[in-house]
Amino acid sequence: MAPGLYIHVPFCVRKCRYCDFYSIADLSAMEAYMAALIAEMQMRGAGFKDGVFDTIYLGGGTPSVLGPGRTGRVLEAAAKHFHILPGAEITLEANPGTLESRSLAQYRSAGVNRINIGVQSFDDANLSFLGRIHCARQAADALRAAEKAGFSDIGMDLIYGLPGQGRDAWQRDLEAAAGFCPAHISCYMLTYEPGTRLAAEKDAGRTKALSEDRVSAMFVQAHAFFAEKKYQHYEISNFAACRDKRSRHNQKYWNNASYLGLGPSAHSYTEPERFWNHADLSRYIRDLSAGCLPTAASERLTGSQMMLEAVYLGLRQSDGIDVAMLEKRFNCDFWKRFGPVIRRFQKTGHMHTSHNRCRLTSRGMLFLDSIAAEMAGVI
Ligand code: SF4
Repeated sequence: MAPGLYIHVPFCVRKCRYCDFYSIADLSAMEAYMAALIAEMQMRGAGFKDGVFDTIYLGGGTPSVLGPGRTGRVLEAAAKHFHILPGAEITLEANPGTLESRSLAQYRSAGVNRINIGVQSFDDANLSFLGRIHCARQAADALRAAEKAGFSDIGMDLIYGLPGQGRDAWQRDLEAAAGFCPAHISCYMLTYEPGTRLAAEKDAGRTKALSEDRVSAMFVQAHAFFAEKKYQHYEISNFAACRDKRSRHNQKYWNNASYLGLGPSAHSYTEPERFWNHADLSRYIRDLSAGCLPTAASERLTGSQMMLEAVYLGLRQSDGIDVAMLEKRFNCDFWKRFGPVIRRFQKTGHMHTSHNRCRLTSRGMLFLDSIAAEMAGVI
């Protein structure tokens, strides 16, 4: 698998209540960020001379606050400093509150060929609870405008498991989403990340999280709903209209491919090393204007850590763990090591094996963390 290039855009119009991604709600340093990002491309590109990238992913933060002009400059600089294959998948994450129909065609002209729209819900009350800057009408308008602009790879994100959310409300979101026939849908469970406003409100007793059972039932509901619509549930949170519409970039994270992350807080990986940038825009700009790389730290993964990741990431995907590949990579007898654990979960209907692959069933996906922990126990 060719490496992927990730670009972190650390700006948002406003911070959402649940979000713990690194971003700031002050857009004044955007030009300084652009200069620093291009300087980082120049410096890291020199060390990645042999890397041929077939994906670029602009994530954040809210990459669409850059607008088409700056996005075009970022992509031109990427093409100048890295070897990007023709036909590369180039994804832009976009917030419906920052899109205009005119800008969507301009993003396409700038080279973006896949757009992922942060819809989250088609219910204004949910959007307001989450602290999103957009309303349901803007989300629907953005999806229609993306199609009109000629995007054939349109994805959307949804969030479920909000306090008080019921089965019927989630069903309405699923139906509204399917009505746009997107190529890709990500359904994320609402989480209460430490340091967010939402977590503080929960700790203070002002917000009551939905019970685990109800959240699990919503996961099963989404799985059944999209299966009926013939979507592939190819990763625990992700659905694609067909194999070609899976996120090529995100599959790199799940399949041990190398990736290079640029921008504040971005992570990079080339086996066995992982390194990441400071999650601090001022520091990022300062380091790069002084001619230094903004790397915060790095770690060298041990063989056991890499095997643990391979097992965990394999279980997240419907394709499961490729046993032959794992045995070759780690020079081990997979069935001898994991056989007893796997047989136990097969009996309970959480796992199945076929064609030398080991997968979780949709029921098993609900217990991913505990099943992965049991497998980790024998690494
Ligand atoms: S728009 Fe996205 S990155 Fe920005 S605060 Fe909201 S969830 Fe976080």
